[in-house]
Amino acid sequence: MTYPEIFVATCDLSGKVRGRGAPSEAYDSVLRSGLGWVPANLGITAFGDIAPKSAFGSTGDLRLKADKFSEITVPADGETPGMKLFLADLANPDGSDWACCPRTFLRKALSDFTEATGLRIIASFEHEFVLNGLPNSDSFSLRRHRDAEPFGSDLIRMLTDCGLAPENWLPEYGPGQFEITLEPSEALIAADRAVLLRELVRDLAIRRGLEASFAPLQDPDGTGTGVHVHISLVDDQGRPVLFDESRPGRLSEIGAKFSSGVLRHAHALTAWTAPSPVSFQRLAPHRWSAGGVFLAERNREALLRICPTSSMGGSAPERQFNLEYRAADATANPWLTLGVLIRAGLAGINGGSDYPLPEVFSEESTEADLADVPELPGSLEQALVYLEQDHVVASWFDQDLLATHLAVKRREAELTASLTDLEKVRKVAGVY
Ligand code: GLU
Ligand code: MG
Repeated sequence: MTYPEIFVATCDLSGKVRGRGAPSEAYDSVLRSGLGWVPANLGITAFGDIAPKSAFGSTGDLRLKADKFSEITVPADGETPGMKLFLADLANPDGSDWACCPRTFLRKALSDFTEATGLRIIASFEHEFVLNGLPNSDSFSLRRHRDAEPFGSDLIRMLTDCGLAPENWLPEYGPGQFEITLEPSEALIAADRAVLLRELVRDLAIRRGLEASFAPLQDPDGTGTGVHVHISLVDDQGRPVLFDESRPGRLSEIGAKFSSGVLRHAHALTAWTAPSPVSFQRLAPHRWSAGGVFLAERNREALLRICPTSSMGGSAPERQFNLEYRAADATANPWLTLGVLIRAGLAGINGGSDYPLPEVFSEESTEADLADVPELPGSLEQALVYLEQDHVVASWFDQDLLATHLAVKRREAELTASLTDLEKVRKVAGVY
């Protein structure tokens, strides 16, 4: 018996990946009836305690319902054995959907979106992270890229072997910072890959004598570490529908409507997409993270950035064209992050005149042009109040899920409230 050859995982409200292992002999039974799970686990904070106001107590049971299509085989690495890893929906003991499951939230958002629009979502999560344990090196440098060997090459090989489809691997701007992008895919797969990527990076780094940190900040005044979510829409034939040469920013009407929903609900969305006590220190102007609530062509300060396309080698723009949501980080759950963006986009598409088409700021826009764009929330506590007050966003969630998110996040805020900025950043970096 090669225990634990199978691990079945979920991802919680703070983006922590938790689950249970089983021996390889249990493969069929795990796929048939899952593994046990406990509702109260959703009330665990990033710092490890259970939020006192969580909706879940000592009773109740669930199943980790392994999704057989999510199976990956993590190869053995030196002394460390390989494993089969599944992602799970949290289900009631009879197998029916549990109303508070983050992955089910995304699945339902996707099916509602497709039912209402006839369109599908293609997505990709772009991750930055910091590798601690390397010598100092210049931003974007070949030196840093080489210093990270053999971790870098091993990472790309492992991600490829696991089917995560790595695209670019690069040294980034901040000290010890790197970035990894994965190829765009169907939305649920993209979010699944984001859940797995962080764990696989951390896991390999440890075995190469390094420590990978996905925390939004390492230093209160330093470079932010973000997650940027790229989204495009395709019709039932797989044809891209975001691109329209004749419109502002080359963004089609349906793309502009989708954007209007995201912009309108941005304040409440950030309570899901950047939900740590230090996330909002990253989301400030002039940090090239997201400096305000606006839609712009190729501007790294925008909440929603219309990404560039390239005509090199005769490439057509339609399929490259995508929207990038920049106010996310790796303290968020990828299923919930993408789920709320899709719900917001759908609200914009369905909302008619309540959701006027947004202004597309051009690349030439000046600080003065952008002076009136709304600011993002200044803190996690503020974002949580926006979430409670935004009845459209609040209505997307089961009341217990919403209450537990508020409870977990308020507990995390409370546990860091008396700390200095530096201590707060260190405390969060200690758990991400
Ligand atoms: N590090 C920036 C962030 O916090 C992103 C920089 C970039 O555009 O890659 O989101
Ligand atoms: Mg980057």
